Amino acid sequence: LDKLTTTLASYHDTLLAAEDDEEVVIGASTIRDAIALGEIEPWFQPQVEFANGKPVGVEALARWRRPDGRIVRPLHFIGLIEREGLVDALTDHMLQQACRHKREWDRTGLRLNLSVNVSPTTLALSAAADRFQRIVQHEGVDPSEVVIEITESSVMTDAARALGVLARLRLKGFGLSIDDFGTGYSSLAQLSQIPFTELKIDQGFVQGAHAQPRKRAVVEASLDLARKLDLKVVAEGVETVDDWQMLAVLGCGMAQGNLISQPVPPEQLQAALGRWRRPE
Ligand code: C2E
Ligand code: MG
Ligand code: MG
Ligand code: MG
Repeated sequence: LDKLTTTLASYHDTLLAAEDDEEVVIGASTIRDAIALGEIEPWFQPQVEFANGKPVGVEALARWRRPDGRIVRPLHFIGLIEREGLVDALTDHMLQQACRHKREWDRTGLRLNLSVNVSPTTLALSAAADRFQRIVQHEGVDPSEVVIEITESSVMTDAARALGVLARLRLKGFGLSIDDFGTGYSSLAQLSQIPFTELKIDQGFVQGAHAQPRKRAVVEASLDLARKLDLKVVAEGVETVDDWQMLAVLGCGMAQGNLISQPVPPEQLQAALGRWRRPE
């Protein structure tokens, strides 16, 4: 296996597993073309309020639609994109495309905030905040309707550097969300210094929390922290009615997960929301 890995690396290729678990070799030029050709596109997963079940936002999640029709998830290509220095191209493309879909929904009267994931390498570039502002404004979207998601672990690897870009984004009106909260070992001191507006509880703590006291304790502590720091809270990976009900009782703000809808291509979002019913 070592030898195979070395050989592949030397050809600048990487061995990837597609969603159907078939293995495909994706080269650097292929991924470069994929972005240029628009083969990578945002799918959307709704976020709804616990209080009334209403949709209030969508998270844009990258999907690679291969020429043979297969859909590949980010786990299988984000790493290669990072290594090839294409991550800013991906982020800009995702942000721009997502804004276009948001404007279409706006026009039909469906007002949704937009959440977009950003890689740590992007946060190291001080130009990122100006770029994001230009992109959203060019698409006719106000930064106050856009939430930038940063994983907890990525902020904390270089908190001082990330802080500069995050503070700039916040000043321009963007929302800032700590993604996968609970998995990144941030200290309370670090957290309170960064002007976050939202916290997303990692699905690892959400799933099964109704039956597992230790998970529930992490969820409760996260909600408590969010209240004290005046942050909105999204529980991610909500899959069951039991977990929904427990989170609702604990006073969590928003839910995202397969119970509501899986990530869907933009043209299927309205139908997915139409199927959704808040648990009694
Ligand atoms: P994330 O931001 O934490 O996104 C949530 C992931 O959980 C998504 O996986 C989503 O499909 C999945 N998920 C949502 N609800 C459920 C549920 O109820 N059950 C289960 N089992 N899973 C659920 P996905 O789409 O494969 O994305 C994986 C990660 O890739 C994302 O994690 C995010 O960190 C990253 N990512 C996605 N799109 C982009 C992008 O455009 N740029 C960057 N830099 N990263 C991205
Ligand atoms: Mg996210
Ligand atoms: Mg997340
Ligand atoms: Mg996650």
